[in-house]
Amino acid sequence: MAEPGKRPNRPTHTGTVTVREQVSPSMVRLTIRSSSVTDGTFVPNGFTDAYFKLVLPDAGGDDVMRTYTVRRWLVAESSFEADFMVHGTAGLAGPWARDVQVGGELRFRGPGGAYVPDSEAGSHLYVADLAALPAVEAALDVLPDDAAGHVVVVHDEPEDVRDLITSLAVQWVVDADLATAYDKAVSLIEELPELPGLQAFVHGEAGFVRKLRPHLRVDRAVPAARLSISGYWKQGRTDEVWRTEKKDWMRPVNDREAQLDPA
Ligand SMILES: Cc1cc2nc3c(=O)[nH]c(=O)nc-3n(C[C@H](O)[C@H](O)[C@H](O)COP(=O)(O)OP(=O)(O)OC[C@H]3O[C@@H](n4cnc5c(N)ncnc54)[C@H](O)[C@@H]3O)c2cc1C
Repeated sequence: MAEPGKRPNRPTHTGTVTVREQVSPSMVRLTIRSSSVTDGTFVPNGFTDAYFKLVLPDAGGDDVMRTYTVRRWLVAESSFEADFMVHGTAGLAGPWARDVQVGGELRFRGPGGAYVPDSEAGSHLYVADLAALPAVEAALDVLPDDAAGHVVVVHDEPEDVRDLITSLAVQWVVDADLATAYDKAVSLIEELPELPGLQAFVHGEAGFVRKLRPHLRVDRAVPAARLSISGYWKQGRTDEVWRTEKKDWMRPVNDREAQLDPA
């Protein structure tokens, strides 16, 4: 029992990697088996962006956490899949996913989540880089077969481009310079035709996502409740640093948007 006013301790689950698959040069899919899926402590929570916090030791041996999406639940097999972007040698989770083999063990917390597609929405917009692509694909999996809208995926490596299974129009925006790719994607999204009854899911690098906010919230008047938008990571920042800076980084945006959704 937690002390009054304190959050209960969240359980830390354990798992074992049972399958390792190279989805594309930069993306590794791990199937993770965990008794927590069977005992009901780590199970589908109704959100397509369900995520877990991978617990890893930092260089000093202290536990730190990195957030990853449950790409697919395999409850009958006490398992779930997660797609890890391997983004070079920097960081902890990327290199861990690059090196872990079948039989490797992990600790994690969760699940959390916030988004579920509205099957009645007139149109959908999904915008992601590779970090948010697993959450987009999990959403595409549950959309009705006749759902309409657009998927825009931004990346810097043409070899990672692959087909996505969806009735939505898919466009990959690829440029060897990621900053240029992000700018091209912003222009492309600004030029999309009217998107009636829009529900949007926009996640990826923080600077990119922030550039899209005014267009979606002001130009396209998407209400906050119809827009899932956040920076999943920030260029040049470890996750610890990004999480400490995030509130200040978002303050001007939140102040500006406070007037858009009157209570
Ligand atoms: C809700 C949520 C769900 C997420 N789901 C996924 C997922 O399913 N798959 C996935 O791959 N990522 C996902 N991410 C993003 C992932 O948590 C971050 O990319 C994380 O920072 C990676 O940790 P790291 O230890 O590899 O790098 P860090 O130690 O955090 O950073 C080290 C360096 O690498 C850079 N970096 C971090 N991530 C990336 C990246 N994606 N591309 C290029 N450079 C990067 C940083 O800017 C920094 O300079 C998710 C994030 C959130 C918030």
